[in-house]
Amino acid sequence: MKYVDEFRDGEKARVLIGEIEALVSSIRLPEGRPLYLMEVCGGHTHSIFRYGLEGMLPKEIELVHGPGCPVCVLPMGRVDDCVAIAENPKVIFTTFGDAMRVPGSRKSLLQAKADGADVRMVYSPMDALELARRNPDREVVFFGLGFETTMPSTALTILQAESEGISNFSVFCNHITIVPTIKAILDSPGLQLDGFLGPGHVSMVIGTAPYEFIANYYRKPMVVAGFEPLDILQSIWMLLKQIGEGRTEVENQYARVVPDEGNNAALRAVAEVYELREFFEWRGLGSIDHSGVRLRETYAHFDAERKFAIPNVRIADPKSCQCGEVLKGALKPWQCKVFGTSCTPETPLGALMVSSEGACAAYYQYGGQKRQAEVV
Ligand code: SF4
Repeated sequence: MKYVDEFRDGEKARVLIGEIEALVSSIRLPEGRPLYLMEVCGGHTHSIFRYGLEGMLPKEIELVHGPGCPVCVLPMGRVDDCVAIAENPKVIFTTFGDAMRVPGSRKSLLQAKADGADVRMVYSPMDALELARRNPDREVVFFGLGFETTMPSTALTILQAESEGISNFSVFCNHITIVPTIKAILDSPGLQLDGFLGPGHVSMVIGTAPYEFIANYYRKPMVVAGFEPLDILQSIWMLLKQIGEGRTEVENQYARVVPDEGNNAALRAVAEVYELREFFEWRGLGSIDHSGVRLRETYAHFDAERKFAIPNVRIADPKSCQCGEVLKGALKPWQCKVFGTSCTPETPLGALMVSSEGACAAYYQYGGQKRQAEVV
C-alpha cells in the first residue's frame, strides 16, 4: 500500500475484524477474563478512538491505554518550574503548543502568558534557537519534552548552538525514556496485561531490540505498530497470533517506517548530549528509576535547570483527579469522577484531558461522554 487512505479502507478493516474474531475464539482466555492489550503510545490511543476501533473489537479484547503521551505524564511540579522560568523578565520561554494548557498548581503556561510572561509557541527547537539568534539581549529557553521521538531534535539543536557559540539559549530538559517505563508497568503488582502494541514513533529512533526483555524476561508479546486503523488492527491480529501459538516475540508491523536497528544518527546525537537521571517523577506513576535524561556536564551551559532558580517542588494532583489510575489502566477515562463535568478539554483538571493524545481527551472528543451516560 502506498497512500494513507489505503490504510483506512473500511472493507479491509471488516476482513481484519473477522480474522481477529476467528482468532480470539480459538484462544483460551486467562481465568475467563478478556485479553488485556496495552497500546503504549498516545498516538495509538487517539487513532483507536478517532476511528472507533475499540467498539469494533470482540468483547474478549480490552484495550488498556498506556502512558505514552509525554504531556499527560508531566507532573504538576515541572509545570510550576516552567512557569517560574517563564516569569523571569529576561526570558523568552518557548514550547510546543500542547504543553501550554497543562495545569500547574498556580497556573498553566498559557495563563502565565496572559499575565505578561513572554511565552511563545514553536514548532521545533530550531525555531527557539532562531529566536535566540534574533534576541541576543534575552535568554531563550526551550521546553524539551517528549520521549525518544523528540529527544534527537533537541540534542541536534544543542549541538548547533554549541557550534555557533550561542550563549543565550538553554533547554529545560524533561525528555523521558520509554523502556524503564514499560518495565515499571510490568512490575506493578496485580497488573494484568497480555501484550503490547509498541510505540511506532519512539521505535523509529531506538529500533526494536530494546524491547526484547519484554518477550524474553516477562514473556509478553509485543508488536510495534503504525498509527492508521489497518496498522492497529493488523498489529492486534499479530498479537493474537502470538498468544494463540504460545509465542512471545517482538514483531514489527510498522517496518515501512521503523528500521529494526533504529536511527543511528539520532542515537549518536542522543548519546552525545544526554545522560540518564537517577530517577524522574511521572504524573500518576510516581518516581521511575532512569526514566528521564538531563544534559551532560559538557553541555551544562545549555541547561536551564542550572541557569535559573526553579522551585523544584513535588506537587500532588488535586484529590478529585484520577489520572494515575487511568494511566495505569486501572480505570477507564469515563470512570473518573470528574470526567466531562469539572474536567473537559476547555477546562482540564488533569493533563490527560489536555493533549489530543491523552486518553481522556480522546474519549471526550470521540463519544466517551455518551458512554459515560450509559453507565451512570
Ligand atoms: S477526567 Fe480529568 S482528572 Fe479525570 S483522569 Fe481524565 S484528565 Fe484526569
